[in-house]
Amino acid sequence: MQYDVIIAGSGPAGASTALHLAHIAPEVAQRTLILEKAQHPRPKLCGGGLLQDGEFILRRLGMDVAEVPHVEVKEAHFRFEGRGFFIARQPVSFRVFARDLFDKWLIDTARKRGIALREETRVLKVVPHNAGVTVETNNGTYTARAVVGADGSLSAVRRAVPGTRTGHTARLLEFYIPPEHTPATDQDKGIFDYKVIGQGVQGYVWDFPMLIDGRPARNRGIFDLCMYDTPRQDLRPVLRQAIAQDGIDPETYPLLSHPIRWFDPADSFAAPHILLVGDAAGVDPSYGEGISFALGYGELAAHELKSAFAQNDFSFTGYKARILNSRMGVILKRRRNLAAMLYGIRTPNIQRLIWWRLNFLLKWYVENFLIDWAK
Ligand SMILES: Cc1cc2nc3c(=O)[nH]c(=O)nc-3n(C[C@H](O)[C@H](O)[C@H](O)COP(=O)(O)OP(=O)(O)OC[C@H]3O[C@@H](n4cnc5c(N)ncnc54)[C@H](O)[C@@H]3O)c2cc1C
Repeated sequence: MQYDVIIAGSGPAGASTALHLAHIAPEVAQRTLILEKAQHPRPKLCGGGLLQDGEFILRRLGMDVAEVPHVEVKEAHFRFEGRGFFIARQPVSFRVFARDLFDKWLIDTARKRGIALREETRVLKVVPHNAGVTVETNNGTYTARAVVGADGSLSAVRRAVPGTRTGHTARLLEFYIPPEHTPATDQDKGIFDYKVIGQGVQGYVWDFPMLIDGRPARNRGIFDLCMYDTPRQDLRPVLRQAIAQDGIDPETYPLLSHPIRWFDPADSFAAPHILLVGDAAGVDPSYGEGISFALGYGELAAHELKSAFAQNDFSFTGYKARILNSRMGVILKRRRNLAAMLYGIRTPNIQRLIWWRLNFLLKWYVENFLIDWAK
């Protein structure tokens, strides 16, 4: 069957593109198909922290995240060698979801709104041509006027977009502390600890509350942006050492890894008949926030698709400007600049100056210039 749009991947970016299409261009949505390599509910390695920006976007679609079980994090603490600042937003600083449940809720809602989904179908190759695009999968070949690459950091669709940057992926390791080993304290606090910058990591270790089978657990991990071409540390011993003071050996628990592709305004985000969204396009470099940005990309892509069908022009030459000039694009650029500054400073005394003495400035900047972009 010939589709109007094929969306590769049904994480937040793919689901958001579909939900926004159903909202603003129902005639296109009716002829849209999502191809997903896995089957929902499928595991997705993630801290699961959703800032209010994600909620704002979903609320405009008539969706309430309260429908999905989650932990409310009241305080987000940012620190370097024990000192820094914390942010306490109302009603919550962020919410932590199990991604299998959150993503299933998103895609189930898209299905209820008329979007077709084909699971266990992996996109292998995308070939654009004059009339549209051919999508080769393990389950047959599909054609459409446009394809949306929402297939994550290791995107297959991205390979068909000329001029995309290589590298640009952060390394992450994550593990879960099960409920039986989780202390009952601090279930409303999330911690970002930047002390590992001193060990050559361009990032931080995190400690988030989470739910496993509805019971309090912890989610811990390490983020290394890999923006600068410095020797790559082995993250396992760095993580082990960073959390040893809490009496935890991460080797006790299965340690999992997955990259995050980060945003670069000089990157390519589209080609004729192809759009990239979410991790496939690049998300926040400052601390790897990706869920709300994936939702935001979906909104922009749906508007781009709507005008492409209205004008019968699938060159998508304006998509990059649409991203960069959007409120989301402006924030992504700011976060990239902050990351370049923060992770470029390898002198511990200057880091201490920033975190210990200028922490009020950093807090003010984060609260006023880096969040609430989707309000
Ligand atoms: C360890 C870790 C912790 C993180 N913690 C947070 C956090 O706390 N908060 C936050 O905001 N962000 C976090 N992120 C980032 C966040 O997970 C991503 O930015 C977000 O999931 C991006 O959404 P997406 O829809 O673009 O991609 P994904 O969520 O990766 O979804 C891609 C979908 O495409 C499917 N797919 C992949 N390849 C193909 C293919 N070839 N064909 C068909 N389907 C395919 C996948 O199965 C998946 O369903 C974290 C990431 C990692 C790795």
